[in-house]
Amino acid sequence: MTQEEINQEIQNCKKCSLYKTRAHPVPGEGNPKAEIMFIGEGPGKNEDLQGRPFVGAAGKFLEELLTLINLKRKDVFISNVIKCRTPGNRDPHPEEIESCLPYLKKQINIIKPKLIVTLGRYSLGEFLKGASISKVHGKLFRKGNQFYFPSYHPAVGIYRNNLKKTIKEDIKKIPKVLETIDKLKEEKSDTNEQLGIF
Ligand code: URA
Repeated sequence: MTQEEINQEIQNCKKCSLYKTRAHPVPGEGNPKAEIMFIGEGPGKNEDLQGRPFVGAAGKFLEELLTLINLKRKDVFISNVIKCRTPGNRDPHPEEIESCLPYLKKQINIIKPKLIVTLGRYSLGEFLKGASISKVHGKLFRKGNQFYFPSYHPAVGIYRNNLKKTIKEDIKKIPKVLETIDKLKEEKSDTNEQLGIF
């Protein structure tokens, strides 16, 4: 399956009721061969209008964060747990997440990113169940052969200066994290999960 085929499936998706209220689904975008995949929560108003992820204020900050590690949007892949905006940006219902997650899993399977950066607690919760963002942000985790690096959501950094600083410091660790992954990949992991190894 290709990224275009997944996009097509998402465009036609009626698996939950969010298709009735969305303007556009937001499948995600970027380099299909990206080393790093950023995964947010779900589209907000601007994303829904444009059909593209992270194009509002949080997206502007995400782009600023990428420049800190010499990357541009086109170098990474940016996606979300949920592909359609919820009415009034309410929290997604569990059944909405459940019906949407297979799309994200297919995207991950195609891209096979070296590192998944989870943005915010929703995204974190899908990959590292029960982890608390205030404890795990800025640390590297491994589950089998997949590596995860949780970050606070860029939206929370916009108005909270102390968190803005924390997010920037976390993101700046990524080049080192990628080097660490190269070393760790040579060692086989028997445990399913190695917590806080960075
Ligand atoms: N917030 C998200 O989690 N995702 C987007 O695409 C935009 C804002």
